[in-house]
Amino acid sequence: MTSTVTPAGASAVPQERRLVTAIPGPRSQELLARRNAAVAQGVSITLPVFVAAAGGGIVVDVDGNHLIDLGAGIAVTNVGNANPAVASAVAAQAAAFTHTCFMVTPYEGYVAVCEALNRLMPGDFEKRSALFNSGAEAVENAVKIARAHTKRQAVVVFDHGYHGRTNLTMALTAKNMPYKHSFGPFAPEVYRLPMSYPYRDAAEGLDPSGPAAAARALSVLDKQVGAQNVAALVIEPIQGEGGFIEPAPGFLGALAEYCTANGIVFVADEIQTGFGRTGNLFACESEGIVPDLVTTAKGIAGGMPLAGVTGRAEIMDAAHAGGLGGTYGGNPVACAAALAAIETIETGDLPGKARRIDELVRPTLDAIAERHDWVGNVRGRGAMLAVELVEPGTTTPAPQLAGAVNKACHQRGLVTLSCGTYGNVLRFLPPLVIGEDLLREAFALVSDAFDEVAKTLPAAEAAPKPQPDVD
Ligand code: PMP
Repeated sequence: MTSTVTPAGASAVPQERRLVTAIPGPRSQELLARRNAAVAQGVSITLPVFVAAAGGGIVVDVDGNHLIDLGAGIAVTNVGNANPAVASAVAAQAAAFTHTCFMVTPYEGYVAVCEALNRLMPGDFEKRSALFNSGAEAVENAVKIARAHTKRQAVVVFDHGYHGRTNLTMALTAKNMPYKHSFGPFAPEVYRLPMSYPYRDAAEGLDPSGPAAAARALSVLDKQVGAQNVAALVIEPIQGEGGFIEPAPGFLGALAEYCTANGIVFVADEIQTGFGRTGNLFACESEGIVPDLVTTAKGIAGGMPLAGVTGRAEIMDAAHAGGLGGTYGGNPVACAAALAAIETIETGDLPGKARRIDELVRPTLDAIAERHDWVGNVRGRGAMLAVELVEPGTTTPAPQLAGAVNKACHQRGLVTLSCGTYGNVLRFLPPLVIGEDLLREAFALVSDAFDEVAKTLPAAEAAPKPQPDVD
């Protein structure tokens, strides 16, 4: 069945799945051999098809295969790949000028992106923003700003959290392999609190409610760190790499309240959850949480590298003149892309499209979980959905099953990703502009992939360890 995409994501790439070779095909295999000889092995690949074009909900490889995109480049191309509005804004800006460095001779695009972020972010107070190149850089700068503002040093983060791969953000990130192993020593004054993980809290006999989980976390903070030493609490409103863990209602609110009462800067890392992905513009909004600072990246600029820190003016302005910045931060081409992407997200009601994706996809995931007792939990929000796989009838993580289903999805022409502290979560992050027929076809194939793996369960369990997750 062919599919149309919404005008917001109108694409020159035909919106249909088409497999013309094995996955990966011969041309991709040739490129893979070149990659193996030229690229550092530390940079791993989830699905080794080399891309020739992409648009809307389709990725076209160099062998002519058309795959359905359920990854959006890890939650980046919310407006669709090569979105025409983004592409023409990029072309126009690249033809005008590509770089001056905002700190040397400024330009309007940077200011306009900051104005848009200040307007869109929750909170009815004066705000400021600063722009950077990557999510990790945004998180680092949020910590720098919070430390300058509070004159305190400690940063608290959470089990299963992911915040990047730079030295400070490796320290903030929970999972050792593959992100931290052999790369220490890490930055000091980072403390980790237990997360609200409703599925596993219940499995471990803990009270899974949000307030109870917050009480457990805050008791660790009180005992081991002391509120008066804490500059910032950094948390993903729904954890991404850690396994699409959605904290129980009331958890984030209790933490935010504690931060306000104790002069701690509450930083929401919305890098994966932002820009409509979860059905709101920002995930915090679903519970009415108003963070002091928000970090953004990924979906901000339709695939161009850009990131931001936005928040209360008095906190953002605490860093001294010249204390923040970087050569490329807020590059004019990336800013032009962001303005086009943000306009598309707003005028095309992409948060509404994320809610519609949830409505369409969740029943299929629930039905898969009904059929297979090795699907322990279906969760997520909007177009950020996941299933956690376990040993049949238990809550023991089963990463080998996630690897097997992922591979079966890839063979069917779907770009799918895994994640999770235990590597046992399959996650779905389609572009928000994906056509409904394409989405239905994709999840019928996901369903089929689960059924195929179910038939070969003992074999799947013996399968080799899956590739490490990407971020
Ligand atoms: N924070 C979160 C929540 C993320 O999901 C990521 C990337 N997966 C990052 C930070 C780091 O972003 P980047 O890869 O752009 O540095």
